[in-house]
Amino acid sequence: MVIKAQRGTKDVFGDEIKTWQKIEKNAREVFSKACFEEIKTPVFEATELFSRGVGESSDIVNKEMYTFYPKFDSKETITLRPENTAGVVRAYIEHNMTRQSPPQKFFYFGPMFRYERPQAGRQRQFYQVGIEMFGIKEASADAEVILAAVEFLKSLNLNNLKVEINSLGCPKCKDDYRASIKEVLKPYLNELCDECKVRYIKNPLRILDCKNENCKKILESKEIKEVIYKDYICNECKEHFDALKKYLDELNINYCINKLLVRGLDYYSRTVFEIKSDALGSQNAICGGGRYDGLVEMLGGNPTPAVGFAMGVERLYSIIKKEQPSKIDYFIVSNNTKEALKLAQKLRQKGKIVDFDYQNRKFAKQFEKAAKVAKNAIVLGEDEINQEYYSIKDLNSGLQTRVNSIDDLI
Ligand code: ATP
Ligand code: MG
Repeated sequence: MVIKAQRGTKDVFGDEIKTWQKIEKNAREVFSKACFEEIKTPVFEATELFSRGVGESSDIVNKEMYTFYPKFDSKETITLRPENTAGVVRAYIEHNMTRQSPPQKFFYFGPMFRYERPQAGRQRQFYQVGIEMFGIKEASADAEVILAAVEFLKSLNLNNLKVEINSLGCPKCKDDYRASIKEVLKPYLNELCDECKVRYIKNPLRILDCKNENCKKILESKEIKEVIYKDYICNECKEHFDALKKYLDELNINYCINKLLVRGLDYYSRTVFEIKSDALGSQNAICGGGRYDGLVEMLGGNPTPAVGFAMGVERLYSIIKKEQPSKIDYFIVSNNTKEALKLAQKLRQKGKIVDFDYQNRKFAKQFEKAAKVAKNAIVLGEDEINQEYYSIKDLNSGLQTRVNSIDDLI
């Protein structure tokens, strides 16, 4: 029986890989320029890290985690990381990074795992690129993080995406807000979708971003809207949010305020943001992030303010202009494998991209291949080897020249 890839997973190769590499390369370049350092954390962690760190009431922990006993007799389960903030925070605490002077700024790029129903823009293994910034409570850090996201997207020629921001307030503001939302939604409880009935108890703010049409309609009613659009955050939170908006204005970053933006994870406080693309259809969020000032302490570290985001690489891939496969520098046409290998070695050491025929096929076949994949063919026949010269053919113009050394050849 032929074994196929698991549902919701995907092989990336061939025409797609160049574009993927570009995404990763740009991420490294843009984030490094802003002094974010790469961090690689394991793809599996103790289950408790996510149940505590992402939150029991989140969709991720409730229904999307890949959790299992690594061996039949294991006492504890492990979980494939569904997101990377919890892992980075764990590493931050474990390596005592609070001892260093803030900020600590990280970026990551890697696979995440969620047991979801596979569909367009939704896989079970998908990649995220993201950043986490620790130690700065001021809105300057929120601005820096949003700026990094926007600059990275710009580097991929994505200039017209929608940046939506909101402030959930500090835990105290959030509690009050939660209570008023519950209060005003109470009469509608029976009309909410089944998921929202559960959310009403576990995580009422999530009702605000329910995709169910009927729930959306309920939120449109006057008295509910009044509660949603009321300025409920405290003065300090308001100052923080105002400062962020000012920075974004100064940076010419277009944004809009979306009062319904609450994000799925429990740990956010104050700033939350998403970046969306109209080109994506219903799974339209590319990037989600926000401030999570309480998380480090909640996972056992010293109280540390933090802010970050994660972007879905597959969704990014689907909306950016694709890279064209480029031709290699030289294809060596030869019937002498040993000499071809040696020449390939020398040229590669000089930084050239080189391939050759491994099977001594007829020259006509080799030229056919060369024309497909390379800019130039180097002919290494008996004459060339005996008389120590190279014939090089520009496969674009057809022009053929003869040179005596590798340096001349290059
Ligand atoms: P959604 O509302 O689409 O489920 P989310 O809130 O679960 O998103 P986050 O946890 O914020 O997503 O993850 C950040 C980004 O990772 C998303 O904006 C999206 O681009 C991407 N992403 C999330 N889940 C998946 C998935 N199953 N497949 C592919 N990309 C995903
Ligand atoms: Mg999700």
